[in-house]
Amino acid sequence: MTKTLVTGGAGFIGSHLCKKLLESGRKVICLDNMFTGTYENIAGLYSDPGFEFLNADVIQPLQLEVDEIYNLACPASPVQYQYDPVMTTKTSFLGALNVLDLAKRNGAKVLQASTSEIYGDPLVHPQTEEYRGNVSTIGPRACYDEGKRVAETLFSDYRRLYGAETKIVRIFNTYGPQMLENDGRVVSNFIMQALGNKPLTIYGDGSQTRSFCYVSDLVQGLVSMMETDSHIAGPVNLGNPQEMTVLDLARMIIHKTKSSSELVYEKLPVDDPVNRRPDISKAVRLLGWEPAVSIEEGLDKTIDDFRSRH
Ligand code: NAD
Ligand code: UDP
Repeated sequence: MTKTLVTGGAGFIGSHLCKKLLESGRKVICLDNMFTGTYENIAGLYSDPGFEFLNADVIQPLQLEVDEIYNLACPASPVQYQYDPVMTTKTSFLGALNVLDLAKRNGAKVLQASTSEIYGDPLVHPQTEEYRGNVSTIGPRACYDEGKRVAETLFSDYRRLYGAETKIVRIFNTYGPQMLENDGRVVSNFIMQALGNKPLTIYGDGSQTRSFCYVSDLVQGLVSMMETDSHIAGPVNLGNPQEMTVLDLARMIIHKTKSSSELVYEKLPVDDPVNRRPDISKAVRLLGWEPAVSIEEGLDKTIDDFRSRH
């Protein structure tokens, strides 16, 4: 039976991934230091005999026997990753190094959850994997962006030097049930504010765009990438190309929640990317993958989940 390690497995995407892997008959070790992960996210998984939880930190060397590794450990919300930026860079860099060493020792496949932040504030639109990005090395987002970039470098060098079976996916904004209510990302902020009939906080004028992918689609993309032939290393973009402005998202959430919330305009964070949309033609070609859940359907499910928590 395949034994899979999911680092960051108690987080938002990680917990959905653990569930899917267990359903496919794998044994799953969920490793997490619970920085942004929660026990509620994985509470339903303990009844599966194939599930094991390990409270550990990826910045420490890992001693395990596994066949495949998904490296998701790293806070993903700007608010969370800027809380302790040095820890974020250490998590990305040392975490990547430690999972790669573990993969090398075990002859295991290893997948890196990279990010659209690799492209920074992109000058190419939509973003293809060939685009090398426009990232500040010194700004407040750099701890995350540069950490994720050097992780891609390590993954590529472990493949070249040691023949490790590495895979890189670049994840674009993903949302869905089990997001932390207070993690500061736009979808969770707007839903919480709308459900409480509080003003929705628009940073800047709200004309900046993002493209939101529902979590079940994303998780299917991760698994499909892990299952590709050994010569396929990526990077491969995973995201939903349906692009919208932050203002449109706010209006859609107010409408769906039948909220009486108004909009308030706040300062745009430093280095906030202006436009973001994935070119997913590589994922379509290599993985036969594309998102199936529309923003309308995905938001309905996410709003239901947030409502059910209260
Ligand atoms: P999340 O914050 O919900 O999950 C991250 C998990 O990693 C948490 O459970 C956290 O406790 C754990 N973690 C953090 N530092 C750790 C450490 N040093 N050791 C062990 N565990 C640690 O975020 P998410 O949205 O589920 O993101 C998962 C991964 O996907 C991250 O690597 C993130 O960079 C990547 N990603 C996510 C998105 C998105 O929109 N959600 C976009 C791009 C990339
Ligand atoms: N944003 C906003 N209001 C909020 C939270 C975020 O207007 O309460 C904006 C943010 O400035 C960015 C976009 O929404 O332009 C997406 O932000 P998020 O933190 O979710 O992810 P990012 O793509 O910036 O990493």
